[in-house]
Amino acid sequence: MEYIGTTETGLMLSIQERDYKIQLCQAELALIPKKMQAEEDKYAKSEKEWRKCYDALKAVQLRQREAELKAGEMDTAIEKYQIQSQSVKDNESYKAMLAQIDYARQKKDEAETNALMLLDEIEHAAKEEQAEKQKLVQHEKDKNAAIGTLEKRKAELISMIDNTQQEKLSLAEQVHDKAVFDRYEEIRKKGKRVIFKVHDSANPAEKAICPSCNMMLTQHFSGLLRKPDLFVICPECGAWLCLEEIAS
Ligand SMILES: [Zn+2]
Repeated sequence: MEYIGTTETGLMLSIQERDYKIQLCQAELALIPKKMQAEEDKYAKSEKEWRKCYDALKAVQLRQREAELKAGEMDTAIEKYQIQSQSVKDNESYKAMLAQIDYARQKKDEAETNALMLLDEIEHAAKEEQAEKQKLVQHEKDKNAAIGTLEKRKAELISMIDNTQQEKLSLAEQVHDKAVFDRYEEIRKKGKRVIFKVHDSANPAEKAICPSCNMMLTQHFSGLLRKPDLFVICPECGAWLCLEEIAS
């Protein structure tokens, strides 16, 4: 078959416009869950960054407390040794006791120095944790806003698809040539665009090109295209062709 004769080329094009709109909406709708997941992932990454800083802060705070505890323990030990040293009988034992006190003092100093240094580290780690926390709060706001927008768009798309399907239905009801419509639907359901508008050159000798497969049509087919009330069927790809001027 070289062509499909129908007076309803304009109507069929209007139906195809609705189908195209539905297809675009459905494609966008299909991407929304992925986009939402991406927002969740971004937030989860930010939370992980904050968690790392939070854990680091807790770890250094623990080390600092341990150092203070250690200094306290040494202090208690020194006191104990001092009391013991008062009841030591011989010189040898007394010397040993003093050495133990010295050693405990040294350990106490070390622990105190360490505890002080760790205070600086805590300050630094706390600042980092605060900064990450602020980022996290902002990221949560951003995430909620983005997901809100996506939810809204999803609702819009669903209603647009619904409305356009209604429009298509009422256009389809206007079609008299059901065979043409059924044939159109059959091709469209395979996910293909059916009808293509061909740009008409001013020169009638010039051959038209099929916009679907880019094949140059023969003189015969180019001539057919200029006739009203028909779709020329591209012999190469089967697309339904009509001139832009006739279609509008
Ligand atoms: Zn073609």
